[in-house]
Amino acid sequence: MGKRILVTGGAGFLGSHLCNRLIEEGNDVICLDNLFTGTKDNIRHLIGNPYFEFIRHDVTVPIVIEVDQIYNLACPASPVHYQYNPIKTTKTSVLGAMNMLGLAKRVHARILQASTSEVYGDPEVHPQPESYRGCVNTIGIRSCYDEGKRVAETLFFDYHRMNNVDIKVMRIFNTYGPNMHPADGRVVSNFIMQALRGEDITVYGDGSQTRSFCYVDDLIEGMVRLMNSRDGFTGPVNIGNPGEFTIKELAEMILEKTGSSSKIVYKPLPSDDPIQRRPVIELAKKELDWEPTIPLDKGLDKTIEYFRQFV
Ligand code: NAD
Ligand code: UDP
Repeated sequence: MGKRILVTGGAGFLGSHLCNRLIEEGNDVICLDNLFTGTKDNIRHLIGNPYFEFIRHDVTVPIVIEVDQIYNLACPASPVHYQYNPIKTTKTSVLGAMNMLGLAKRVHARILQASTSEVYGDPEVHPQPESYRGCVNTIGIRSCYDEGKRVAETLFFDYHRMNNVDIKVMRIFNTYGPNMHPADGRVVSNFIMQALRGEDITVYGDGSQTRSFCYVDDLIEGMVRLMNSRDGFTGPVNIGNPGEFTIKELAEMILEKTGSSSKIVYKPLPSDDPIQRRPVIELAKKELDWEPTIPLDKGLDKTIEYFRQFV
């Protein structure tokens, strides 16, 4: 029999893929979202399904719903959007985590937190294992997101130790794919939209900074495996693709794949932009028997195909 599952941030990029997957598996899914960066278009095909409900609600406000599992994804993830109202971003991470943990405690639900590689900040250890404690600026423009997510992890472990809440903490590395908003502002969607429209490709800095890009289907598989992992395994666990690329390499790949005549232009590097990032995924391999299967080359093809409709 299916479970009753709450997905906060369910109308966003990752949340909408997760709702699809959970519905396909025969669960009763409640998608909670304030539609700040998410859109009804991402879940349009699920509306009307008797096993799917959408609630327009803000996670900073408590709510009571009887569920078996909670995936807590609500939080803007693109720097452009989380810096739009940084105070609200911290509230969403911290108050959102408190409210969802309070709910999990009350209804005895298992709860998974969508944490992030940003807890490692601008890392001095490369690649990053879960044991690395990070290098985060407390007062910079990325701090609202990074520190908000760090406090959320702290709250998860304190609710676990004090109240025995059944927690799972997932550190997500840069993920891309269909259902990213065309104006999301993150690098993959920016470069693809620019290339398809024949606009300049905006590389920040000299493009030598690196990221490791995970295709959304791999990520969702890891997320569902973590939620259903053995009792007592809390994480934190890195989920991401260890294939590491410079931002300039990414721009060149997208130009080649789209056949675009766009030119690369260089813009100032935003402050605190991490220089390098790559996950160590040994823990996910061991505990979840998980590793990514879709290389950047293939994932980009699928993503470019999706974005063509917006041109
Ligand atoms: P997204 O912006 O597409 O989705 C976030 C969703 O949360 C949106 O639907 C938005 O409307 C909703 N939301 C924001 N604030 C809310 C609030 N106060 N109350 C209710 N809903 C709210 O981003 P995404 O990439 O799908 O990210 C989902 C989660 O995964 C986020 O928590 C993010 O921090 C985390 N994450 C994502 C990545 C990635 O590369 N995609 C990497 C690390 C962590
Ligand atoms: N970036 C870029 N051009 C853009 C958007 C982003 O060069 O139009 C760079 C950004 O400076 C960063 C990397 O791409 O070094 C990844 O940025 P993104 O916003 O996708 O995610 P994050 O910095 O949070 O990993």
